[in-house]
Amino acid sequence: MNKKLGLLLCLAFFFACTPTNAQSDQKPFKVVIDAGHGGHDSGCLGSRSKEKDVCLSTALKLGKLITDNCPNVKVIYTRKTDVFVELYRRAQIANTNKADLFISIHCNAAENHSASGTETWVMGLHKSEANLAVARTENAAMLKEKNYENNYEGYNPNSPEASIIFSLYSNAYLTNSILLANKVQKNMVNTNHFTNRGIKQAGFWVLYKVAMPSILIELGFLSNLENEKYLTQDANQNQMATAIYKGFVEYYNTVTNHHLESTPASPLPVSETPAATEQESPQPQQTTETQRPSPLLPEKTFTNDVHFKVQFLSSPKKIALTDKRFKNIPEVGCFYENSLWKYTAGDEPTQAEAANILKEVKKVYQDAFLVAFQGDKKITVAEANALLKK
Ligand SMILES: [Zn+2]
Repeated sequence: MNKKLGLLLCLAFFFACTPTNAQSDQKPFKVVIDAGHGGHDSGCLGSRSKEKDVCLSTALKLGKLITDNCPNVKVIYTRKTDVFVELYRRAQIANTNKADLFISIHCNAAENHSASGTETWVMGLHKSEANLAVARTENAAMLKEKNYENNYEGYNPNSPEASIIFSLYSNAYLTNSILLANKVQKNMVNTNHFTNRGIKQAGFWVLYKVAMPSILIELGFLSNLENEKYLTQDANQNQMATAIYKGFVEYYNTVTNHHLESTPASPLPVSETPAATEQESPQPQQTTETQRPSPLLPEKTFTNDVHFKVQFLSSPKKIALTDKRFKNIPEVGCFYENSLWKYTAGDEPTQAEAANILKEVKKVYQDAFLVAFQGDKKITVAEANALLKK
């Protein structure tokens, strides 16, 4: 090989192997991650959880994913700990940092405990009273501030006329906000399999004030037991953060010339203490729970782990098994299904034995009926009888 060609090949190899500096020379893309509420503002409450905690945990995980995987993106948090940050301050942080994107993370709650699902909001005028109500609830965080009247141009979240202020909003960033909202919402519902409540518009103060594309994600409903159980578990928060991350990267690739992989090369660490997280969750790790029968009763033998019980009550709220309503019911147990706690009597190896209990229970609860399980898994009575013959 002649010298010149050798040198050329060396140079070509050098450039091929050296990462281009173009990316690091560019000014960074700044994303503000806004964990809703904090400090004395807990946000909405679940049966055992607070919105501010779910938001913070998910926000920090999202920030870590972006920091670890997107070399040209700078993450700015409105809060990194459990502190109160005024709504207007959150927008100020984004604006003074000249951020490129603003992502606010919240959880929903509703009086109707069956309401569930994920929705993503962009700034705009509400099209329904229900949309207005969500924005008003989130805007009410400003009422937790000492001098809130001075900071919000006379806006009062409790006044129905007040949202007129948002009609002044010229949404220069709407197209990109909707672009991001679509990508995040799609990834979220593909991950948590919650009801897809879609992309919505309403006057959220924090979105109103930021001068950049912005979204507000309502991860799910803390007022819904099933949603709450999911939202409060560390491993699931990792999954949701990853879903938002994927949406962010898809957006980032679209609006910049970068081509990042939407699956993070450096994922979040798997929770080391899943058992502890499970125990803190609003529902027991097991799907069924039974009061232990008296040790003096003879041991029952359950063929193929098949159990017959009598279901007599269901409730959206969990009732303690020691409740006085259950006083004369034998072997009260409960299981969680379709957003309801369901209460059972007896725990019998055969349908015939459970039928005897059913007769007794029906004297108090006329609508009682037989149910069957294999282990903790609910099966039909026919399936249970078939398993007994195996
Ligand atoms: Zn909120």
